[in-house]
Amino acid sequence: MKDNTFKTMAMRFDIISLFPESLTPYFGVSILKRAQEKNFITIVTHQLRDFAHDKHKTVDDTPYGGGAGMVLKVEPIAEALETVCNDQITSNEEPSADRKNLKTRRILFSAKGKIITQEDIQRLADYDHLIMVCGRYEGVDERVAAHLVDEELSIGAYVLTGGEIPALVVVDAVARLIPGVLGNSESAKTESHTIVGTLEYPQYTKPEEWQGMRVPDVLLSGHHGEIEKWRAALLKTT
Ligand code: SAM
Repeated sequence: MKDNTFKTMAMRFDIISLFPESLTPYFGVSILKRAQEKNFITIVTHQLRDFAHDKHKTVDDTPYGGGAGMVLKVEPIAEALETVCNDQITSNEEPSADRKNLKTRRILFSAKGKIITQEDIQRLADYDHLIMVCGRYEGVDERVAAHLVDEELSIGAYVLTGGEIPALVVVDAVARLIPGVLGNSESAKTESHTIVGTLEYPQYTKPEEWQGMRVPDVLLSGHHGEIEKWRAALLKTT
């Protein structure tokens, strides 16, 4: 888990999207809302169209070589990335040395990317600043993946209509690992996948019996040693 005991700045997430309004409701509730209020994390969304400068604010065009659909153009994405990267040192009145040296990672979401695991999430939680680009339509001009971002990530072997859900997934999963974000810091240490290939033991809550199905006696026994043994025996491996 990320150890940023001495870190004073919030971890920052910037998301570049054609539909940023689809992201904000999720960030406005529960743990992620509180994490922003308590300044553990900062989430900023950006409208990709704001970085297109022709009359129609064009962000896409037809694919070279023909084929279905539209492809997101490289120029608005390049400008958005540059603006967001520079913003990290200009958004504070007096940028500190710390802020100038932020560890930043630029991610493009893509169905062709590396499928994210909990190890990737742990690795990403070690950055100070994640900048994420959400594709749409037929995808994104390949020059973005090749030259403008650090990695291309996928959330699974299926195709979504856009990169917004992957962005929600990454922010949510990474934020849980930032110290202070979860009320009980033990939660993230004992969860599924924290140790690679290990799944959590079964969990129960009240009532003790529901429709003839009882909570295992050991969990009601109050014997912590026995409970730990029972839980350890029921950890699953993938
Ligand atoms: N034509 C592309 C292909 O065959 O790989 C799919 C484009 S998809 C309809 C539009 C955008 O959704 C992608 O550019 C990407 O940003 C996002 N996307 C779709 N599936 C994804 C996945 N499994 N993981 C991450 N992003 C995904």
